[in-house]
Amino acid sequence: TAPELIRNFSIIAHIDHGKSTLADRMLQLTGVVDQRQMRAQYLDRMDIERERGITIKSQAVRMPWEEEGVTYALNMIDTPGHVDFTYEVSRSLAACEGAVLLVDAAQGIEAQTLANLYLAMENELTIIPVLNKIDLPAAQPEKYAEELAKLIGCEPEDCLKVSGKTGMGVDALLAQIVKQVPAPVGDPNAPARAMIFDSVYDTYRGVVTYVRVIDGMLHPRERITLMSTKTQHELLEIGVSSPEPVPTKGLGVGEVGYLITGVKDVRQSKVGDTVTNYAKPATEALEGYREPLPMVFSGLYPIDGSDYGPLREALDKLKLSDAALVYEPESSVALGFGFRCGFLGLLHLEIVRERLEREFNLDLISTAPNVVYEVTMDDNTQITVTNPSEFPGGKINEVREPIVKATMLAPAEFIGAIMELCQERRGSLRGMDYLSEDRVEMRYTLPLAEIVFDFFDQLKSRTRGYASLDYDPDGDQVANLVKVDILLQGEPVDAFSTIVHADKAYSYGVMMTGKLRKLIPRQQFEVPIQAAIGARIIARENISAIRKDVLAKCYGGDISRKRKLLERQKEGKKRMKMVGRVEVPQEAFIAALSSD
Ligand code: GDP
Ligand code: MG
Repeated sequence: TAPELIRNFSIIAHIDHGKSTLADRMLQLTGVVDQRQMRAQYLDRMDIERERGITIKSQAVRMPWEEEGVTYALNMIDTPGHVDFTYEVSRSLAACEGAVLLVDAAQGIEAQTLANLYLAMENELTIIPVLNKIDLPAAQPEKYAEELAKLIGCEPEDCLKVSGKTGMGVDALLAQIVKQVPAPVGDPNAPARAMIFDSVYDTYRGVVTYVRVIDGMLHPRERITLMSTKTQHELLEIGVSSPEPVPTKGLGVGEVGYLITGVKDVRQSKVGDTVTNYAKPATEALEGYREPLPMVFSGLYPIDGSDYGPLREALDKLKLSDAALVYEPESSVALGFGFRCGFLGLLHLEIVRERLEREFNLDLISTAPNVVYEVTMDDNTQITVTNPSEFPGGKINEVREPIVKATMLAPAEFIGAIMELCQERRGSLRGMDYLSEDRVEMRYTLPLAEIVFDFFDQLKSRTRGYASLDYDPDGDQVANLVKVDILLQGEPVDAFSTIVHADKAYSYGVMMTGKLRKLIPRQQFEVPIQAAIGARIIARENISAIRKDVLAKCYGGDISRKRKLLERQKEGKKRMKMVGRVEVPQEAFIAALSSD
């Protein structure tokens, strides 16, 4: 297709504002998915996406659309809305010239509306403002058209009004996409340069690489070079998703499509890399993307120790399609052998864990999540801590923790509640703006560790669900952080070590020792449970001794009953972990780690 007839666009919005539903209507209206095949959120293909009703992976689809007798090729890229997956959004946007900015007409602008708009502006995209869900009785399209117009600097009349549910206004939107989004520009005669914006592992087809061609042309059967690694591959298949894969004879300037090269691992076909011809290579690679950095770490352990091998295999497989997941083996006194894994955020952690349990049939326990700390010792050595139990003792000069710039949007009546919450979480206010008379945008700097845990739930409950949140990494800061260890009879239990702000150390110690006292059965001797910072004990509980004589319960001489009891006791022992002299059932560790 000639570049003049191509339009590449993304749909961006706050979560639940209706991107996937609008995409469905476009698929139907352009005829690429017929009535019979249609199902809601068609492009959300993973089971977990469908069940949770959220989009995790971006999707690119090519759709034909006729305007005044001319047939255009529209490439639509549906993106996830959750903050953990912002890196997916920014990748998709770099492959487009335009963005449909969708706003729920019953909700108005939310935190991720802004975040995504700013990303689109950074990529210099043409923005088409659209109010969605106008079929809802609670919709206030006029009010929010004004908010939206003020935000992007257009007239309220320029905001289109659609319903992704009923399809109202969707054809007019497609017409505006053709009219307003610029056609891609590139040099068709230059050596090929195509940007990899996604790479997925498909059980049947292997690694499928999604590209947007900037210059030149790619053909099936030719050899290509991946510019960052200088590796060569043969293009076994090249095509477009419509939305099923359709092989083509080539991809030219401005086109979006997929490549299959026989590469085995998505890491070899790296997102952000440039594909060029082997015979006539480009000299300069395209500007790549920021690599996604893991923000949150947690230990993943199989509940049944013999599942360690299968867990490793499952992680290897998952990594094929999730380049943002990192992991390395670790072991724990309490939990045995497992892996320390890095995630983009808590939702990413939850999704990975759920996929491991579901798709690979594993029972897992995850340790309390933590962020990454940079510790500088007095002798200037630097230590990066991803596991709290590895936090150094000895002379520490300073500890740095990651911070984020957070943006919260809410009705003005909740300003006080939000300030209070941010105060409790060591936040500092950076600024505040009124978007309209009754809606404010509040900007805070907050430690990542304070925001990743239950911050969002707290924000929602303190604002009756009205506030929305978005955040971006913003470097790090020095903080007064300490490691709290939990000791059983003087022995530290690694899985319970945590790094907290000095002000919160005491309450963590009291909470954890209290929890363990209830969970650990009495032993033949007294067992002290202590919380300590270094050598200083900050909390203590005691489990008093008992004489555990099971046979004493059996009156008379019922031998078989005695044997059964002894056997049951032996069974129980197998799942016991020894911490020093103390026997602890693994269930106690698991219960103590699960948040309640
Ligand atoms: P996404 O998170 O932006 O992809 O949003 P979805 O497309 O998954 O939609 C979120 C929810 O809003 C779903 O329950 C949809 O059925 C609903 N929804 C989406 N568009 C409309 C619309 O135009 N009208 C109404 N009434 N509901 C809609
Ligand atoms: Mg969606």
